[in-house]
Amino acid sequence: MRVILLGAPGAGKGTISTLLVEQYGIVQISTGDILRNEVKKGSTVGKEAAGYMNRGALVPDQVIMECIRERLKEPDCAKGFILDGFPRTKAQADALKALLAGMGLVLDAVVNLEAPEDVLLRRLTSRRTCSNTACQAIFNIYTKPPRVEGKCDVCGSAIVQRDDETEAVIQARLSTYREKTAPLIDYYAKDPVFFAVPCLDAKECFAQIGARLKK
Ligand code: ADP
Ligand code: ZN
Repeated sequence: MRVILLGAPGAGKGTISTLLVEQYGIVQISTGDILRNEVKKGSTVGKEAAGYMNRGALVPDQVIMECIRERLKEPDCAKGFILDGFPRTKAQADALKALLAGMGLVLDAVVNLEAPEDVLLRRLTSRRTCSNTACQAIFNIYTKPPRVEGKCDVCGSAIVQRDDETEAVIQARLSTYREKTAPLIDYYAKDPVFFAVPCLDAKECFAQIGARLKK
């Protein structure tokens, strides 16, 4: 099964991806994770991407397409994949269409996850990450607070907001989304595999997606 998950930052793409991975045994391909990994490694791609990421802007399309082209060649993609956070621009969507056609692959679903703006903001500002780069455990001040305030349960290091999860950068990410990525909803809307699902409760959202995928 091959699925695209669309949705604003904080819409729940990561959470829903994890559930789809468990249920269908397919892989999650998150361009955000790929890029963060490159930044951590200090690679050429990482060095180029970091500046864009830290101000809530999009990394250039060519860089992203190179990452995706390489990733889709990996053998674990044969069973199927979830594209989480990609495509994010019309240019990426066009390039993906050509790439998949060239590989003889078709999409089974393009799902738009919907959540109101206040929910997005609350989710995005409540995440905390362990500052120890070897640990990087994730917490949420409302739903998964650490046992000791401000300290990682796993390694005891300070927990912090990710560089791109401060209030100012979150606002920038949301406006980048509205300008560059939201138009993809219209781009895919006429496609028979497209559908939209509200994503307030993750389990309920996942159940609705599962019901649609069986049809
Ligand atoms: P979110 O979806 O919550 O914004 P991600 O982890 O998907 O977070 O992405 C983090 C950052 O990585 C984005 O703000 C952007 O700078 C960059 N990024 C990720 N995916 C793409 C993409 N497909 N195109 C351009 N930039 C991307
Ligand atoms: Zn830790």
